[in-house]
Amino acid sequence: MTQLFDIKQPVVPVANSDSVFPVHRIYCVARNYEAHAKEMGLQEREPPFFFCKPADAIVTGGEQIPYPGCTENLHHEVELVVALKQGGSDIAAAAAKDCIYGYAVGLDLTRRDLQALSKDKGRPWDTAKAFDKSAPISAIHPMEATGEISSGSISLNANGELRQQGDIQDMIWSVSEVIAELSRYFELQAGDLIFTGTPSGVGPLVSGDVVEATVEGVDTLHLTIGD
Ligand code: MN
Repeated sequence: MTQLFDIKQPVVPVANSDSVFPVHRIYCVARNYEAHAKEMGLQEREPPFFFCKPADAIVTGGEQIPYPGCTENLHHEVELVVALKQGGSDIAAAAAKDCIYGYAVGLDLTRRDLQALSKDKGRPWDTAKAFDKSAPISAIHPMEATGEISSGSISLNANGELRQQGDIQDMIWSVSEVIAELSRYFELQAGDLIFTGTPSGVGPLVSGDVVEATVEGVDTLHLTIGD
């Protein structure tokens, strides 16, 4: 059997190592912090939910990314990213920690105007959430180096101005609960990345913006928005 052509396996560098983490899928949690759910207009408390980005939406190495087309309202969402070394279906929350390889800081970049249109028309979110370069990510830090991340500051600065600020312990679903819940819907695998949701303070980015996104105890992600 001859494979017609090669395609590139997306990988994320592992911090302080020559190793890279191969990306299988990218899952994202929506509305996992109550203050952000409220700022998005949600009145009643309801459970978070999931969507996906393609594996090759990642951007590594603190690159500059071009301002994406088809939007006039690109938004930042800083998120704790969990990288899995093993998976499964119907994983118990108590066993979820065994699936974690490590953690990174990620941005769930969002074309907010297209997302609003999708919500309004009852259409899928893909053009709003799953576009090229929509998932900038720091190096992955093994859990053996960071310890389990269940609390700590999560924040985002743009041009030195604080935009987003929250605490990991304020997630509606904890990391273990996210893994357990997600594994009811999908068979998780080694190589999966999970963007675990964003705290309040999301807002627009424009060309020339310099972004610093930090999760305490993990890393700081640097990103510049180009033309
Ligand atoms: Mn998000």
